[in-house]
Amino acid sequence: MTRAPDLPALFDRADGLYRDYKLGAVRAWKARTGGLAIGYMPIYIPCELLHAQGVLPVGLMGARDDLEIIKGDAYYQSYICHIPRSTIELGLNGNIDCLDGLIFPAICDVIRNLSGIWQTLFPDKLVRYLDVPQNFSPDIGGRFYRHELETLCAEMAGRGARPYDPEALSASIALYNRLRRLVRDLYALRQEAPWKVPTSELYIMLRATLVLPVEEAIDLLEEYHACVEAADDRQPLDQARVLLTGSFCEQPPIGLIRTLERSGCYIVDDDFVQVHRWIKSDIPVEGDPLNNLVQAFLSDAIASSTRYIDQGVKGAELLDRVRISGAEGVLFCAPSFCDPALLDQPMMVRAVETTKTPWTAFKYSENTGQFQVIREQAGTFADSIKLWSEA
Ligand code: SF4
Repeated sequence: MTRAPDLPALFDRADGLYRDYKLGAVRAWKARTGGLAIGYMPIYIPCELLHAQGVLPVGLMGARDDLEIIKGDAYYQSYICHIPRSTIELGLNGNIDCLDGLIFPAICDVIRNLSGIWQTLFPDKLVRYLDVPQNFSPDIGGRFYRHELETLCAEMAGRGARPYDPEALSASIALYNRLRRLVRDLYALRQEAPWKVPTSELYIMLRATLVLPVEEAIDLLEEYHACVEAADDRQPLDQARVLLTGSFCEQPPIGLIRTLERSGCYIVDDDFVQVHRWIKSDIPVEGDPLNNLVQAFLSDAIASSTRYIDQGVKGAELLDRVRISGAEGVLFCAPSFCDPALLDQPMMVRAVETTKTPWTAFKYSENTGQFQVIREQAGTFADSIKLWSEA
């Protein structure tokens, strides 16, 4: 008989991985395997490519509220978001020196500038600005993106990674498909029974996967899924179902997520840790795997504020998510000074208002320490949904 996984122990392990900004798990993996570890900034990179060349992809999402920022503040003006400062602080403190390189996906000017600063500060490391296409035609954006990925493969091989091998990439895509499926299943379970899958817990699990090899990330999430399915001591409360949007890059402190839950909200959909959900369905494993990765990016990625919407309508996918998740309200919850999130917000609000869905908005920083005001705002919002909403 297999022993039922122990949820508290599983959570403690995940929480330890989430809090360890010195990347102990990555250091241990390197000591064990001798492989390269390459970090990446939000939101998405094709981790399959790194895995196929024997490289450990390591997701960085700032330093939370645990790290005092001293040096990082010297590099950015006060009206810039927080994540680049904490990333620089981590770099200059030697906290992430186990990384052999860092990939900066093109999501905004801040990340672009950070890649330049990184090149200057750490000239011996691989620094790659991954310029993703904003044209989604296979002949133009597709060709361009494929070239970007091929260059990345060659650069990793030049640093000692295994050379690109299509068979290995197909196998890696299959593994990441499994991981994506698991995350989708957990999101679906949370929509169905949010009391079983508290977002503050699921979030920690997802953050933990960012520093684990995909095989271990799969094991972790499978165990977590089994635990929460079996958790019959978790009973529903009379909370408002809300969709939280805008937090795709710099992440809110965990205390803020818990505050929202304690103020009477069930978060039934969110934008956290999107790397495992960026591609919405399985990527084919037959045929040219590099082309499959490119095609998935072009035609099966989520609608993000960091992505040009060509034929579509801003806010349309948000409305779909509200409908599918059964959300009764929308929380626009974005990092202070986040251009992509905040420039899109008026268009998203307009879309939400067409369906008369209640919404409210607030901003945070990854090191926000006081939640009382947000608790009152979210609590009032949840109460008003429960009392008066027709949604
Ligand atoms: S939080 Fe927003 S502005 Fe800051 S780096 Fe991320 S996407 Fe760019």
